[in-house]
Amino acid sequence: KRVVNFSAGPATLPLEVLQQVQAELLDWQGSGMSVMEMSHRGKEFMSIAAAAEADLREVAGIPANYKVLFLQGGATGQFSFIPMNLLRGKTGVDFVLTGDWGKKAAKEAARHATVNVAATSADAKFTQVPDRASWKLDPNAAYVHVTSNETIHGVEFAADPDTGAVPLVADMSSNILSRPFDVSKYGLIYAGAQKNIGPAGLTIVVVRDDLIGQAAPLTPGIFDYQQMADSESMLNTPPCFAWYVSGLVFKWIKANGGLAGVGERNAAKAKLLYDYIDSQDFYRNPVAKADRSRMNVPFTLANAELDAEFLKGAKAADLDGLKGHRSVGGMRASIYNAMPIEGVQQLVDYMKEFARTRA
Ligand code: PLP
Repeated sequence: KRVVNFSAGPATLPLEVLQQVQAELLDWQGSGMSVMEMSHRGKEFMSIAAAAEADLREVAGIPANYKVLFLQGGATGQFSFIPMNLLRGKTGVDFVLTGDWGKKAAKEAARHATVNVAATSADAKFTQVPDRASWKLDPNAAYVHVTSNETIHGVEFAADPDTGAVPLVADMSSNILSRPFDVSKYGLIYAGAQKNIGPAGLTIVVVRDDLIGQAAPLTPGIFDYQQMADSESMLNTPPCFAWYVSGLVFKWIKANGGLAGVGERNAAKAKLLYDYIDSQDFYRNPVAKADRSRMNVPFTLANAELDAEFLKGAKAADLDGLKGHRSVGGMRASIYNAMPIEGVQQLVDYMKEFARTRA
């Protein structure tokens, strides 16, 4: 049995990918080995690694002057490694805060640089993206950091922001590869793999090559982007199995209409859920419509005393992982790339029935 998994991450993976992993688990393509058992320097794994990078470059349209790094340490590790690598002799960094993940990233960056909060929607309880005209950017900042999708609050930048000459750094952990996006607008993009890409343990960094090579002296080698780029992310043993599964996910995206196809399906899934939420009073989503996440849909019940019963009934109907983050409460449905629209429809049907019998 497989449940409909609405977890925020690690999250559901495409069934076809899991089936391929299962089929190849003991003997990868006649090698007589599992990918888990292969030397990362052997020709089999080197071919897996190279294909994954080539497919990611193709899917996301990554220009040749960007390095693609396959790292460890999660997106949280990058909260520190980005300032260690990208200050380039500067002292200040700008942050646009739209939720808790951006706050955490800013807190870590403050150990390495002077953090200027150029804009924040904290006063609106992170239910919107601050209007671009209100951002107070510092032209001397080393970079501007945004969280393109705030996983907890369900707030997403509707389009790639423009920060002019100052490099834009984006934490795309929870919306990478969910729609077409313009890599050339960014200096650096990073994401933990465990939502839209593959298993936990792998962190993707896409960085413009002129920004690297000036890491702070105490930066560990395995988190120095230049050293990792020079060694094709193999200065040490990489997370081989997660890299391999992620490569299968990139192929799955290619076979399913690329980012345009994925984006259309994600828009339809989000519309189905938000349209229902907006059509009645029992459930509510507080986020400004233009800034609503297509990946994470938080919602509250009119009567919070019914939360436990809602979750129990959902679980009984094989709808898993709907409990909201402890900092905002209520529910959250994470509907990443691998969630089929039928799963969202099942959730809406359950919500309707629950509201009908409890309202
Ligand atoms: N940033 C965002 C937007 C996230 O959603 C998460 C995890 O949920 C993180 C960062 C932290 O990622 P990791 O657990 O890979 O450090």
